Amino acid sequence: MTEKNPENLAYQPPPPYSPQQQSQPYHIPQGTTQVVTVITNAAYGPEPVVIICPSCHQQNQTKLDYESSTKTHLMAFVICLLCWPCFWMPYAIDSCKDTNHYCSSCGAYLGTYRG
Ligand SMILES: [Zn+2]
Repeated sequence: MTEKNPENLAYQPPPPYSPQQQSQPYHIPQGTTQVVTVITNAAYGPEPVVIICPSCHQQNQTKLDYESSTKTHLMAFVICLLCWPCFWMPYAIDSCKDTNHYCSSCGAYLGTYRG
């Protein structure tokens, strides 16, 4: 009789894991080109940075150009009050100025770092 067959009831094969679902997390999304999104104004610092130029789409290091800012003039004014022969010093020190980043290939303006 098949009325009593406890072995068959107790021994149920475990549900097989579907390999399709497991393989999904390991699938590398095609997002490796997101490196391009690194280019933000926040990325620009006092040092040259490697960027992909939005203008000529070439990867290169930015070219730096220092520009006197309001801060530079303010520092010169303060130094002028304290020790006037040294008033020119902020204009000679690059860290007292804004740092403009330009593309070294096409010369496009990319951003400014305000120190
Ligand atoms: Zn460029």
